[in-house]
Amino acid sequence: MPLFETVIGLEVHVQLNTKTKIFCNCKTSFADHQNTHTCPVCLGLPGALPVLNKEAVKKAMMFGNAVEATVHKKSIFNRKNYFYPDLPKGYQISQFEIPVVEGGHLMIDFKEGGQKRIGITRAHLEEDAGKNIHEASCSLVDLNRAGTPLLEIVSEPDMRSADEAVLYLKKLHAIVRYLGISDANMQEGSFRCDVNVSIRPKGDEKLYTRVEIKNMNSFRFIHQAIDYEVQRQIEAWEDGLYDEDVWQETRLFDADKGETRSMRGKEESADYRYFPEPDLLPVILDEKMMEEAKNIPEMPDAKKERYVTEFGLRPYDASVITSDVETARFFEEMVSAGAEPKEAAKWLTIELQGRLKGSAGIQESPVKAPQLAKLVKRIKEGVISAKAGKDVLDELFVQPEDVDEVIEKLGLKQVSDDSAILELIDGVLSSNPQKVDEYRGGKEKLFGFFVGQVMKASKGSANPAKVNELLKKRLNP
Ligand code: ADP
Ligand code: MG
Ligand code: ZN
Repeated sequence: MPLFETVIGLEVHVQLNTKTKIFCNCKTSFADHQNTHTCPVCLGLPGALPVLNKEAVKKAMMFGNAVEATVHKKSIFNRKNYFYPDLPKGYQISQFEIPVVEGGHLMIDFKEGGQKRIGITRAHLEEDAGKNIHEASCSLVDLNRAGTPLLEIVSEPDMRSADEAVLYLKKLHAIVRYLGISDANMQEGSFRCDVNVSIRPKGDEKLYTRVEIKNMNSFRFIHQAIDYEVQRQIEAWEDGLYDEDVWQETRLFDADKGETRSMRGKEESADYRYFPEPDLLPVILDEKMMEEAKNIPEMPDAKKERYVTEFGLRPYDASVITSDVETARFFEEMVSAGAEPKEAAKWLTIELQGRLKGSAGIQESPVKAPQLAKLVKRIKEGVISAKAGKDVLDELFVQPEDVDEVIEKLGLKQVSDDSAILELIDGVLSSNPQKVDEYRGGKEKLFGFFVGQVMKASKGSANPAKVNELLKKRLNP
């Protein structure tokens, strides 16, 4: 029996966040009442002519630059013909032979360290379809989404496991969010993907038959679907049924059963009869647009690198913080508010994110960057201990108050005042004269005992650094 290798290539559909649709002036807001954002163009009425939205092209170009791809100065639109009730024209306007973006790559980061390059074949613009709503006795069609700009990003078959596929998707997700070209909200379907999966005997370079699992929008389900599909294909091979059971087809993932199921057979496989869209001129990008699209924000990898070199963060912490744009923003806001970067990183990734429930993003945190920065500063200044800082943070989660007020309210202020601490020290020394003599006689390890007694006398509120310093002076006059 051969050992197998998994081969995965992904087609990701990213809904671009333009104000209006890709070929008409209708608003892109599909949560509104059904069919309120439609016009002759996106309804597919005969004779209506599409006009390309420049914003959508610009966003696609920015993506191309972010993944170091070629942005073609000339690209064309094609008709992709198929019938479905949510597609009023009977064809989708897409790009085929010459997409706006071609080539490129991104790096995935392994948890254990190390990176791997994943190739991007192309990224092309197309229009989204509407939505079918199925009711008990009939189906309804909502065309608010019809004509929303999509960027379809096609990867090379470079991924070798479900883990790698998810790492790729997370990186891609981060990139489009950093660029601000999409909400990339997976639950709402503005970042969804088709997963192509095949297996091959390890060492074989050739690509074997792939199946395509359509329309996935959860990292967890994608992982499960790949694992299931790989297992199914391996079993077919081992049972001598590979040619019978594995053929190029579209499958759907059933999340309840945790399995993939055949959706469309070979006989019904689509022939899209692509041809150039006669109602649109080729897209020709001028120098000005080419230049403007190069103006993109700092990308996750560059940011991570900078956090390591400029702030001295550990690479792992830097990659956690830069893995999404809001967390990176939160961190930078803390640093500009005066928090020491390494401490800021620790309090953000361990204490704050540890307290956020489930999959809540940093945006939902009840504690904002300026407050957490202030907390980190108060610890650094010795106003409170790190342990007390955790209590302050707990309290801030319950009630959004000012850090200083919480410190006051909970009575957590450390005593750093010399005379107050000296008073405690003198009390401890005078009630332990024998131990003082032993210490001065050379039994230096008693020092810890004195520190403990002073801390105890202060009920934990004394600044330990101060206690150490003053105690040393008193014991070694
Ligand atoms: P189509 O446009 O018909 O879906 P493509 O050739 O453009 O087909 O490929 C679509 C995706 O399938 C790409 O992401 C590609 O990397 C991936 N792919 C192609 N062949 C294989 C294979 N044998 N195993 C896994 N993925 C594959
Ligand atoms: Mg495909
Ligand atoms: Zn319209």
